[in-house]
Amino acid sequence: KYKSYPYEHMQKIREQNISPSLRMYYKKPLLLHQGHMQWLFDYEGRRYLDLFAGIVTVSVGHCHPKVTVAAQKQLARLWHTTNIYMHPSIHEYAEKLTSFLPDPLKVVYLTNSGSEANDLAMFMARLYTRNFDIISLRGAYHGGSPYTLGLTSVGLYKHSVANGFGCSTVRFLLIFLIIWVTVYLNISTVNISSILKVLCVCHANDQYIEQFKDTLNTSVPKTIAGFIAEPIQGVNGAVQYPRNFLKEAYQLVRERGGICISDEVQTGFGRTGSHFWGFETHGVVPDIVTLAKGIGNGFPMAAVVTTKDIASSLAQNLHFNTFGGSPLACVVGAAVLDAIEEDGLQKNSEEVGTYMLLELAKLRDKFEVVGDVRGKGLMIGVEMVTDKDSRHPLPGEEINQIWEDCKDMGVLIGRGGLYSQTFRIKPPMCINKKDVDFTVEVLNTALQKHMERAAAK
Ligand code: PMP
Repeated sequence: KYKSYPYEHMQKIREQNISPSLRMYYKKPLLLHQGHMQWLFDYEGRRYLDLFAGIVTVSVGHCHPKVTVAAQKQLARLWHTTNIYMHPSIHEYAEKLTSFLPDPLKVVYLTNSGSEANDLAMFMARLYTRNFDIISLRGAYHGGSPYTLGLTSVGLYKHSVANGFGCSTVRFLLIFLIIWVTVYLNISTVNISSILKVLCVCHANDQYIEQFKDTLNTSVPKTIAGFIAEPIQGVNGAVQYPRNFLKEAYQLVRERGGICISDEVQTGFGRTGSHFWGFETHGVVPDIVTLAKGIGNGFPMAAVVTTKDIASSLAQNLHFNTFGGSPLACVVGAAVLDAIEEDGLQKNSEEVGTYMLLELAKLRDKFEVVGDVRGKGLMIGVEMVTDKDSRHPLPGEEINQIWEDCKDMGVLIGRGGLYSQTFRIKPPMCINKKDVDFTVEVLNTALQKHMERAAAK
């Protein structure tokens, strides 16, 4: 109860003792007490459907019993060794994790966060190729460390990059002018508009690839170390690429001696439904994959997986990481993989995610301000616009009100995109169709209220 944790007192502590850079969601941030699977409970006993999963991190469910028990058992036995001695957990985990990955991705490095994983991936690309420049996409998020900030250009970081933090890398500025035409590619609805959109996509892909070639030819001729991309952009609001874009981009990068990195921090572990990894949905096999967030269901752990060949270029260097690959992390990671398999969560992501996309598409057809519904599996974006013709982002205060109303009705949704204009729906993968019906009902009510406010103006 708030009585035993006075809200105002907490706010005072925040003002005095907690980093002011931590941004809270909602006018009155939630004070949380407990989580169970797809649900969160606050200190007043209110229950919320968590559609953002601690920013796409709680993969199998809050306090999933299997993962919790595994962690508890290991906590009582041995937490930490810094891997200067052997422990079975890291061996078992590396073997298990790589059994989910195709050849030749078989060598695992364990770190603690996605930023660290991408730092290491960049380091590997540079060592292996003896080149320097790494290409990332506009709207990408690959981390907040000084190294990865140079790859990141979305959210609060877009200003940092514009101010020059990105100087260590070459930025590839994809113009997402017509990116919205890529929606529904992965939904099995067949109607005229989706067919038209598929046709548009081919055209869009040519434009993107032309820009990619321009960047390769003019900015970094023959000296590229690598290319990093998320299979679906997460922080940018579930932005998808045209169907063959990654395939062609990978080929162009490899022709110039670069290696390809797939950032699976948000798209990995079955979230996109049809495949376990996002890169598989594009028909490519990267040289390095980076994993975090869902890998530990909220436990701080991350990984880089690469080929024997690339790993050998790092073998002369000591790769030291105090906490990476601790017995506790490895046991948690293994239990998460078990839970995904035993609970059928990849299949659930596909079924429930597709159902969610189709139901949300009905809201898009009903409300002018719902400009786009896109994504794959349980990686969904709902973009809010002033109107479907201009596609300008809906003003912040109007989106905020819709979002606050959803929270008040018990549904927590994320935000993303350059203007925070996209609702991000990336829940624990255990949600069900009833949760989807509840979500759509709540969003429908919030949008209805928005229309009434607009009409009264
Ligand atoms: N890559 C992607 C795609 C991410 O979404 C994030 C985190 N939002 C990161 C990397 C960085 O992960 P971390 O916050 O664990 O450093």
